[in-house]
Amino acid sequence: MKRKLLVWVWLVFLGILNAQVHKDSPNKNISSDSPINKRVATLLKRMTLDEKIGQMTQFAFYGSTATGAVVDSNTIIHIRRGEVGSLLNADNFEVIRNLQKEAVNNSRLGIPILFGMDVIHGFRTIFPIPLAQSASWDLALIEKCESIAAMESSASGINWTFAPMVDISRDPRWGRVLEGAGEDPYLGSEIAKARVKGFQGDKIGSANSVLACIKHFAAYGTVEAGREYNTTDMSLQNLFNFYLPPYKAAVDANAATLMTAFNELNGVPCSASKYLLTDILRNRWNFKGMVVTDYTAIPEMLYHGNVKNEEEAAIASLNAGVDMDMQGSVFLKNLKQAYLGKKVTLKNIEEAASRILKLKIMIGLFDNPYRFLNEENLRNNTERPEFDATALEMARKSIVLLKNNQNILPLSLEKKYTIAMIGPYSADKTGLNGEWSLSANKTHDVSPYWAITKKIEGNSVKIIRSLGCTINGTDTAGYADARRIAQQADIVLLMMGENENMSGEAHSRTSITIPDVQRNLMKVLKRIGKPMVLILTNGRPLDLSWEDANLDAILETWFLGRKSGDAMADILFGDYNPSGKLTMTFPRTIGQVPIYYNHKNTGRPYSLATSTERYHSVYIDVPNTPLYPFGYGLSYTNYKITDVRLNKKILNQREVLKVTAKVTNSGKIDGENTVQLYIQDLVNIPTRPVKELKAFGKFLIRKGETIKVEFSIPVTEFSFYDDKTNLIPPIGEFKLWVANSSDDNSKEVNFAVVK
Ligand code: BGC
Repeated sequence: MKRKLLVWVWLVFLGILNAQVHKDSPNKNISSDSPINKRVATLLKRMTLDEKIGQMTQFAFYGSTATGAVVDSNTIIHIRRGEVGSLLNADNFEVIRNLQKEAVNNSRLGIPILFGMDVIHGFRTIFPIPLAQSASWDLALIEKCESIAAMESSASGINWTFAPMVDISRDPRWGRVLEGAGEDPYLGSEIAKARVKGFQGDKIGSANSVLACIKHFAAYGTVEAGREYNTTDMSLQNLFNFYLPPYKAAVDANAATLMTAFNELNGVPCSASKYLLTDILRNRWNFKGMVVTDYTAIPEMLYHGNVKNEEEAAIASLNAGVDMDMQGSVFLKNLKQAYLGKKVTLKNIEEAASRILKLKIMIGLFDNPYRFLNEENLRNNTERPEFDATALEMARKSIVLLKNNQNILPLSLEKKYTIAMIGPYSADKTGLNGEWSLSANKTHDVSPYWAITKKIEGNSVKIIRSLGCTINGTDTAGYADARRIAQQADIVLLMMGENENMSGEAHSRTSITIPDVQRNLMKVLKRIGKPMVLILTNGRPLDLSWEDANLDAILETWFLGRKSGDAMADILFGDYNPSGKLTMTFPRTIGQVPIYYNHKNTGRPYSLATSTERYHSVYIDVPNTPLYPFGYGLSYTNYKITDVRLNKKILNQREVLKVTAKVTNSGKIDGENTVQLYIQDLVNIPTRPVKELKAFGKFLIRKGETIKVEFSIPVTEFSFYDDKTNLIPPIGEFKLWVANSSDDNSKEVNFAVVK
């Protein structure tokens, strides 16, 4: 509400300004016939130093969500002075159009502005959170969701999204795991590519596309203790083998921009890391795009303690390889002085400004600054009915069935019985979009209650419900009503979990259980003895040990976006057979964190531990194994893998390994199964993990059907980095599994690689 009011105040304010300012300042755009570099060079010659630095400056739109220091309210003045290369988080068509007019008509050179926005899992149509989407393992569908997000946001005037977030994380305490694709570098890389392609289309500047931004470079997902913005420190072999691959994949997929991370890595804040931004990104990976910092990351260096003052921060960032300062104003206030003091070169400034100008040319802003402000697109490309269909498809595919004792699910519509929906998420309006749904049109959100009510219409199933308690807090006054309702029911659906503010940026938790007030309610209801199914809403892996031991079924539904309710209802009543599989390990207890499937073996492995021999790498109170492993997810049918065959048992380093297997759906219902291929490189330095995902495929298998699946993997894919960051070609003995999950060891074969 407050936000809407601010936008209107802005519209009025801009109207007044436009009326006052002489609008016919010449549009000094450059000829569109010459090649891009020539156009940039011509433009640079006409620009003052201040204007060049201005291009390197991004302000948050006044009135938008501020994730750092206070938003500058002098946007218009800065625009007129040519001090704004980009604005972030303005999502109103009229506001953007007026701001663009200011830049084009009332700044000296009329250079158009880039409008950036956090379009993280949809724009007006909200899709499941990215972690949920990753559980679909459906790359084509992920790409499609992003292309819809691009279509809707670009129709609103936005031309740049701050996504994909590709930070690998093994720590569910960190709230931002919801924005990523989980813990695996290979899956993370495949998803990163799909997302870049979805946002950008076939090439930078395609119709209905937005520029992608790879973030947060680098290793933000491994902040110590899972605490937001905290420090990271790791060996280079760890960095290169497990954390960098998705950033690199997104660079190779031609992502136009990249954002630095807030954290420091190995003693250097990422926005000042020449090693990351120049040595790796530009020199090794040949990244040609533009680098923006995270929100006020440059001034924050004063707290990190790597610089004495803002001028030093500006110098460190520019010299490291930063092109644009997000909301810090540090470039704007210090770079000129640094240049005059010969502490930075004009060449560095011009290179940075050029990268920004180049992107503006590539997306057509110089030819038509209003290219993204087309009313017809706004009307035609926003919230089309087929977008809802995709939102539903993705929501269904994101759900992971974690437990299903005695096949209690799916529920039947044939019988006469009463369902009790109990818990905070049984309300009408439920807030199931998750963080980063800033521009959502929530009027079409479908709550579980509405969807389930619709589903049972005309049948003899009855629904009763009770909130029982809120998500957090200590009030147990509603327990009595919940008990009363449960007593009348044949089955209890527990609609519980985290709220939208318990995960996401700056929402780290030290406890990852369902909040006590809800868990205690479950305990109270358990005593009644009715079958209980948990429909879990949350943004991170949780410790579900109690729930696993005490409930009959658990559906992990994350935050599913606009079509949450419909997707849940479809799964509950068997209109869609669950196919989601976890992309992050669920621990038994917070004490196991960080926990991940691709760990090392140690010299005293868990597998050799016995009850009498205690000197092993084990805990004395819980097993090492997780509650639910990476790659795990049940379905209403069973998939059996047989006949795993390799094209060769000994391959040289230039060959392609071909693996085939048969997969049978032995149940009574069709389904989709994600088949996963893992390897273990048995002997090497650095030592290799006990398992590594190297391929996967999602297949539709009809009931009773057996299909043949095939994977082709160039042997070079088994290479890895040593601690000097050299890429080591594979050699020696390997194990391989074709599996239904990372803990499925049933189909093991061996092969070897020779030179
Ligand atoms: C986040 C970024 C985001 C930026 C702009 C920061 O706080 O870390 O991921 O893109 O804000 O909203």
